[in-house]
Amino acid sequence: MNARIRWWLASAALVLGVAAQAQDDFRGGRIVVNEKLRAVVTVNQRSYQLSGRASGHIGFTFEDLAKGQLPVGAMNVVFFGVDQEGFTRQPPKGDKDGLLAFSLDTSQPQTLGFNPGLRAIFGDLRGRVELSQFSEFLTTPPRGEPDDHDFTVETQPATLRFVMVLDDVNLTEQGLRGVEQRGGRLALVLTADSAVVHQVEMPRYVIAKEFLPFRYDITWIPLEVGRRLCLQPVRVLERIELQGTCPFCSFVVEFSGDGLAFGQPGVKKQWDKADVTFEYRDWISVWNGAYADLTTGEADALRAEVDVDDCVEVFFVESISPQGTWGGGATWGSGLASAKVISSDENANVQPVNETHLAHELGHVVTLAHPGSGYPTAGAPYRADGNTGTLMCPSGFFADNPRVNSDENKTNANNPLMTFAFKVRTAPPDCADDADCGPCYTISP
Ligand SMILES: [Zn+2]
Repeated sequence: MNARIRWWLASAALVLGVAAQAQDDFRGGRIVVNEKLRAVVTVNQRSYQLSGRASGHIGFTFEDLAKGQLPVGAMNVVFFGVDQEGFTRQPPKGDKDGLLAFSLDTSQPQTLGFNPGLRAIFGDLRGRVELSQFSEFLTTPPRGEPDDHDFTVETQPATLRFVMVLDDVNLTEQGLRGVEQRGGRLALVLTADSAVVHQVEMPRYVIAKEFLPFRYDITWIPLEVGRRLCLQPVRVLERIELQGTCPFCSFVVEFSGDGLAFGQPGVKKQWDKADVTFEYRDWISVWNGAYADLTTGEADALRAEVDVDDCVEVFFVESISPQGTWGGGATWGSGLASAKVISSDENANVQPVNETHLAHELGHVVTLAHPGSGYPTAGAPYRADGNTGTLMCPSGFFADNPRVNSDENKTNANNPLMTFAFKVRTAPPDCADDADCGPCYTISP
């Protein structure tokens, strides 16, 4: 496609986006839950104590309350420090302990029942369970596969039985003056079905948390639900140089990582529109200079170098060889708590640069696939299509993804590590859906 046509498509998409600007017009009550959890599980004839958290939000209208069906926005359960081999019976390549997480199946709307007589919000939610070790079972496929920078890690089908017993059952009066904190008791039963995960047979098991006191936030005033996700940046050693003659010598140590500061403004600009805030931890350094110019064959070893249970790891390398591999970066385990990204600093350092590369990879981290590539694949979590005309369009190396985000991308963005909090309303995304956002295009230099 020549530059003029590309420019015209870009302009048309931008005009359409402004004309039909989407609005978050939800009016009703909202509940946000962020609760620490302790639970027990017996698997492969051994019992384990687990600790972690449940995070979710539920939005409802008067009609939903009258029908006794409350739409679930998100419900994540994640346990940290879990003995991976105890579940998988496979020796770990990376950390012995890792995470176990439940993510909601978002292919169909899911609801919880509400019964004022029982004072309860309850129901079974469909989803999938991952262990962080599952991503070790995936060998990075050779180049040339479709969507070959967005690699799917398989999971186990699962059901989350959710029961909230409320101290005060009048949900229409709570939260009318602002955000109110209320109490109750919460029980969870998470059942993972037996499944074959990347050729490893996983057993069925049940994780149960008894009724324990918990608090929830509720409001009927028009606030939005903000979502937060922790990122763990990882840099690798580029070079150590000795300067001068010892004993008056000094060392210069250089790391990769230019892509982080370069990509952050694009991440903030695009994901603020969708009320997703990424929180960055301080660097973890890998002291192995062999990874600085990464080949695809080294990617699995680099991924295994750092495992942080409660954050998504983003590895920055100086370059990926050959240049342009994976369009300059890739995501493994898209949509999972154990997702990992590898990104080349060439996106920041080699002209023409790519301002939306990191924002695009983080779109994969929050489950979004390329337009037309979303799927319910057997064994994998449901992946929603990213919208055409948005940052989820694949751009290839040396080109920017559209600097546009959409209402549908916002609705579908999720990761089991996300936590939730009420926030004041901010500007909505640029456009609503495929029809509104226009076709995919790339911004050429
Ligand atoms: Zn992509």
